[in-house]
Amino acid sequence: MIKKATIFDIKRFAVHDGDGIRTTIFFKGCPLRCVWCHNPEGLTQKTDICFFEHKCILCGECARVCEKSAHKLQTNIHIFDKNACVLCASCEEACPNDSIKIYGKEVTVDELLPILLEDKDFFESSGGGVTLSGGECLVQADFCRELLSELKKNGISTAVDTSGFVSREKLNAVMPFTDIFLYDLKAYSEDVHIKCTGQSNKIILENLKYIDATGKPTEIRIPYVPEYNDGEIEALAEFISSLKHVTRVKILPYHNYASGKYAALGIENTLPCRLPTDEEIRAAEDIMLSHGIKVYER
Ligand code: SF4
Ligand code: SF4
Repeated sequence: MIKKATIFDIKRFAVHDGDGIRTTIFFKGCPLRCVWCHNPEGLTQKTDICFFEHKCILCGECARVCEKSAHKLQTNIHIFDKNACVLCASCEEACPNDSIKIYGKEVTVDELLPILLEDKDFFESSGGGVTLSGGECLVQADFCRELLSELKKNGISTAVDTSGFVSREKLNAVMPFTDIFLYDLKAYSEDVHIKCTGQSNKIILENLKYIDATGKPTEIRIPYVPEYNDGEIEALAEFISSLKHVTRVKILPYHNYASGKYAALGIENTLPCRLPTDEEIRAAEDIMLSHGIKVYER
């Protein structure tokens, strides 16, 4: 029995993480480093604290409760010493303006299950269920397997949102309890994939062919990032059209809403500058359609 997993969020009533109304669990840890990552708080598996300076109203509550003196307030300045922090969460609770957030919490299957079953009626009436996401949820595949198995015992539909950059062993661990994979494809060319994510895509393409050969359905998700992977759509469409069990393709327009998170985490902001236009997204969708691939209706 795997005791615990580290997660950084649970989103109820999610409508973009598979069919119907869903609860999505975001697991911490990811082996890829996509330059456009919009969940940088999920990159490492360790618990981390974020200070959102722009939200701080300089009330001093955090400094009052912090026993490690990690928060220091001077006239109009809030200095946060992350190295002094022991992640006790007192300041997160005390802050009246949500300026402090701790990402990463250890949970057990027994703790998660009642939360997930709470919305069973919504799942059933909408054709929804539970989605495991991240980060890369399959970094913690043994825990995912246990959780998915319990969900299936309770009649809940399950989806696993993965980058596919995982061992076959991890994929096989969750396969029997996964109804659908939400599978991210970032590039077909290996050099483009390395440039965008820091890793080769060979294992990702092979794993997708493997899943497809089992007959398990997949929804493919392609982040569209101008000047990074925008030249890959035709090759991806050709590849996807060779698969037999793809339910649809969703082109995800790149956005830069996460820039504040990079600053708050104190890590380098790698987000590209240029956002895609509607015309570019439509053109990418048209390429998919021209290959006979069903496209997600926005
Ligand atoms: S989490 Fe605890 S130790 Fe860290 S800064 Fe906040 S109050 Fe201080
Ligand atoms: S409690 Fe929140 S708003 Fe108040 S000083 Fe600390 S971070 Fe800023």
